[in-house]
Amino acid sequence: MYWQTIKKSPESQQTCPNLSDYEQARASFSWNQVRQELIGLPNDQGLNIAYEAVERHALGPSRERVALRWLGKDGGVQDYSYGRLQELTNRFANVLESLGVDKGDKVFVLAERIPELYIAALGALKAGAVFCPLFSAFGPEPIAARLAIGQGKVLVTTERLYQRRKLATLRGALPDLKQVLLVRQEGERVDLPDTHDFHELLAVAAADFTIPPTDPEDLALLHFTSGTTGKPKGAVHVHAAVLVHYLTGKWVLDLRPDDIFWCTADPGWVTGTSYGIIAPLVNGVTNLMVEEEFEAERWYRILQEQRVNVWYTAPTAIRMLMKAGTERARGYDFSRLRLLASVGEPLNPEGVVWGQEAFGLPFHDDWWQTETGGIMISNYLCMDIKPGSMGRPLPGVEAAIARRTHLGGIELIEEPDQPGELALRVGWPALFRGYFQEDLRYRQCFADGWYLTGDLASRDRDGYYWFMGRADDVIKSAGHLIGPFEVESILMEHPAVAEAGVIGKPDPVAGEVVKAFVSLKTGFQPGEELRRELLALARKKLGPAVAPREIEFQASLPKTRSGKIMRRLLKAREWGLPEGDLSTLENVAETGQEADSDAKP
Ligand code: ATP
Ligand code: MG
Repeated sequence: MYWQTIKKSPESQQTCPNLSDYEQARASFSWNQVRQELIGLPNDQGLNIAYEAVERHALGPSRERVALRWLGKDGGVQDYSYGRLQELTNRFANVLESLGVDKGDKVFVLAERIPELYIAALGALKAGAVFCPLFSAFGPEPIAARLAIGQGKVLVTTERLYQRRKLATLRGALPDLKQVLLVRQEGERVDLPDTHDFHELLAVAAADFTIPPTDPEDLALLHFTSGTTGKPKGAVHVHAAVLVHYLTGKWVLDLRPDDIFWCTADPGWVTGTSYGIIAPLVNGVTNLMVEEEFEAERWYRILQEQRVNVWYTAPTAIRMLMKAGTERARGYDFSRLRLLASVGEPLNPEGVVWGQEAFGLPFHDDWWQTETGGIMISNYLCMDIKPGSMGRPLPGVEAAIARRTHLGGIELIEEPDQPGELALRVGWPALFRGYFQEDLRYRQCFADGWYLTGDLASRDRDGYYWFMGRADDVIKSAGHLIGPFEVESILMEHPAVAEAGVIGKPDPVAGEVVKAFVSLKTGFQPGEELRRELLALARKKLGPAVAPREIEFQASLPKTRSGKIMRRLLKAREWGLPEGDLSTLENVAETGQEADSDAKP
């Protein structure tokens, strides 16, 4: 709340956004109406995500529009029209049927960002199977654990990953895994037992496919959470989630048919599926798939050359770009950009405002979780931005700040600016339908008709939500509740600071005191003087009760492979506690795996 509101006057909008009147949309909202904007399977056979993503356009005048544009590592570009995508996904659905895949069977995909991943995902959904992505930099352990929990029946992967991760040796322990399909690069061809060639099967499969009747409540997606707070959970979603994918693509990301859209999240995570595959296609745009990893100049070049209109990325990427220096952004033409959006972690106000400096547009932060299936709280194009706030709930979603009671219920906190757990009233179609094989844990997320998110937040008088931290990360110091995000954001205001992670450190008097871990931007050195400057800045802005007592400099902070700072690990190390499940920690050397550079924002 230290930053000035970014006012959205009608003149500052180049075009009228899809959502132009937030209050009116909230007041008149109905999910039934959203359902009417989708087509549904012919003859009232239900609702299928892939049909809405592909056929909805392939059967109409947009058939020749580019659905997917793949930018390969070798500089090659491949375009897939909606019509071509229809054919390829039909073929893959036929392949699955021929391999004995039934409704509800789990089809896992472990691949880098290659076109086959998108074809497999959509083809699996057409066949009535459940699509489950696995992040390509996982080592053999996390791959096997997720395949086992999810009872994967089919695995689509590349020959390279199959060999490097030594997946053949895992199969004995995975009795449910019946079929392995390998995507091969040209010239690659080793005869591996018990595997099929993805392209060979695709080539002989029929190009027509009729999607079987799909109930909106049929399972469609299985997504493992990021593992930021503990062992990853497998959240399941149903086909009806497509209503939320569609609506948020339209209202939050403001997607329009002629748009070039780029979501930088890897499809191995929920954002990379909901917004890297489904939402853009359902909204009929051209969706970029970028095989290469992060590199500041490369990303600026893609934004310019591909004339990207809407860009959806994450705080970790934004911080990396900021760390590289704003000068690096100079000289590029970003005039096609209409909207910048961010998700995954809190976006510090510094980052929101930096968007204006580098691109001429602020970043629009939004909040959601694997469990919510789609964006729930957002800064909309039509609304003023309060930097540091997650924004306001999606029309159709009711949010509240709640306190759990001892009797297993909740009390809603109506007063503004009070901390509490962020709760969402059950009823939006993308809410997860279970944690796979963890029913009790699932049920514990609900009380009195509300889903409790495990995040602490507050709501201000204008209805904007402010993230404070994970319930587990909140610091209790001398009777105060301190959210790490607020402290981190102040430290980030210092020009030397690239990243900050704040935890509670045990203290005999206060219970906990605030300790900050800080990594610095290129060109800055840690030292006593800088430490004192940072402490003074924090004390001045936050007051002595909330400011860190201690600052430790680190070259970089531990992060999940999806780019989130792992405060639980900083804390466990500080407290001398066990480090817990590290399967999603980035850059851990794993046996049987080359040291991938896998900072995947
Ligand atoms: P796990 O549940 O396994 O610990 P995770 O919660 O990080 O991992 P995800 O579902 O990928 O797994 O992430 C959702 C969480 O990320 C949210 O609950 C929230 O804590 C954080 N988050 C996402 N977007 C934002 C945002 N815009 N502002 C603040 N926090 C965010
Ligand atoms: Mg979570």
